[in-house]
Amino acid sequence: MANVRLESIKRRFNNVTAIEDITFEIPDGEFWVLVGPSGCGKSTILRTIAGLENATSGNLYIGEQLVNNIPARQRDVAMVFQNYALYPHMSVAENIAFGMKMRKIDPKLIQQRVGEVARSLSLEHLLDRKPKQLSGGQQQRVALGRAIARQAQVFLLDEPLSNLDAQLRDDTRAELKQLHQALRNTTVYVTHDQVEAMTLADKIVVLNGGQIQQIGEPQTIYNQP
Ligand code: ADP
Ligand code: ADP
Repeated sequence: MANVRLESIKRRFNNVTAIEDITFEIPDGEFWVLVGPSGCGKSTILRTIAGLENATSGNLYIGEQLVNNIPARQRDVAMVFQNYALYPHMSVAENIAFGMKMRKIDPKLIQQRVGEVARSLSLEHLLDRKPKQLSGGQQQRVALGRAIARQAQVFLLDEPLSNLDAQLRDDTRAELKQLHQALRNTTVYVTHDQVEAMTLADKIVVLNGGQIQQIGEPQTIYNQP
């Protein structure tokens, strides 16, 4: 079980309060989407859950565990960034395997999982290529593959489709939806795109100025006067 619970999370950078009094609980397996204008704190929330930022105050639980002082590497989370962040000198296979290698998983098992993940994302024929030999959509699928391969219970995605052209964005969005239906890992997803929020979210968190404005199902959020 990996529900994700934030209790009054606050993050200040010097004099700037990036987020304040952020409280919500994502039940195990749900897909939640964070929306709101640029600078409202979406990335800070994601990075705090990942352990890439430390909260100034408040408590964060993953499953039953209080993780405030648990480093990113020891949290059961996988994060996908907007700009892919693939390792340019590594092949697709090595990129997908990287998180598992860091966790000292048996090399045979790594090889098997790389194969499975590549199949599920239609990347099998690209395993020996370097990132710069791939299209943007293929690179984004490798970044997703690297996150999926870790089999983390919690999946964090920061505008993972925003660098793709319209057609690829539609295709990859549909793939993401299918993947989530298959894997059912607890997911927090940041986007500016209303279509993505509508099609992917179980719940949407609307943020403004570092605070929660509203939490609700997509039809509630987008159908009000
Ligand atoms: P969003 O992802 O919604 O665009 P962010 O979480 O990136 O918003 O930023 C929220 C606020 O915190 C912004 O005012 C931003 O400038 C500020 N901020 C984020 N990271 C830092 C940082 N490392 N140092 C100083 N201010 C930061
Ligand atoms: P995004 O727009 O995708 O949220 P940004 O480009 O705003 O990301 O931020 C990239 C990095 O810079 C992040 O690590 C963020 O924490 C940091 N950052 C954002 N705003 C500021 C700021 N005002 N001062 C210092 N660092 C910041």
